[in-house]
Order: sequence, then C-alpha cells, then structure tokens
Amino acid sequence: MDIVDNVRSGKYRTKLDYPKMNNTCKCGNRFKEGDSFCSKCGSKVEDYKAIYKEQLKTYREDEGKLCEKFRKDALKDVGLSKHEAKDRAFNMAWSDGHSSGMEEVYYHLINIAYVITGE
Ligand SMILES: [Zn+2]
Repeated sequence: MDIVDNVRSGKYRTKLDYPKMNNTCKCGNRFKEGDSFCSKCGSKVEDYKAIYKEQLKTYREDEGKLCEKFRKDALKDVGLSKHEAKDRAFNMAWSDGHSSGMEEVYYHLINIAYVITGE
C-alpha cells in the first residue's frame, strides 16, 4: 500500500461534484428571495436552499469518510495504528500539512512517527 500513490490517484478524493445552489426555475426564471411561486410561469418554488444544504451535507459526509480512510491508511503505514499517540500525531501532521494537501500531511506524519517510534 503506497499512500502517496493513493493520494495522487485520487483514492481519498470525493467523486461528487461540489453542490451549487440552484435558484433557477425550469422555465429559466431566477427566483427571488421569499418567492413561493415563479413570477414568470407560476410553478411552485422548490426549497432550493434546503436541497443545497442536503447536497452539501452529503458532500461533506463523503469527504469525511474519505479523510477517515486516509487517516487509517496513513497511520497504519507509519506504524502508529495502535499507538496511544496516534490521534495527536495525526492531528499535528494534519494541521501542519493539510493546506498543501494530503501528500504533505503524510510526509509530516512520517517525521512525527520517526520521533515517536524511532523507525
Ligand atoms: Zn418558472
């Protein structure tokens, strides 16, 4: 199992599209805040904000699941799966590296694991 290959191939990246709020009626008219019916065709306005919120939740849950998978795989790879300091180690690696991506998090974790285990 090569974590870097996994990261690069997108194994830990969600396949879902980032949701967009769709406030456009099927007739093409754009709903205004507070509209119950489309001012152009009279269709009932769907609760597009609730739909968006739901899609965003699904997206975030998928991201979370994949992130957890990455966490497990990375900790296992560096030999910290069962170590009492695993959460601290991962959180530290995450806060130092995640702005540059999961690959960077993994490299930080390797260094932290070395300090902890000497391996
Ligand atoms: Zn309409």
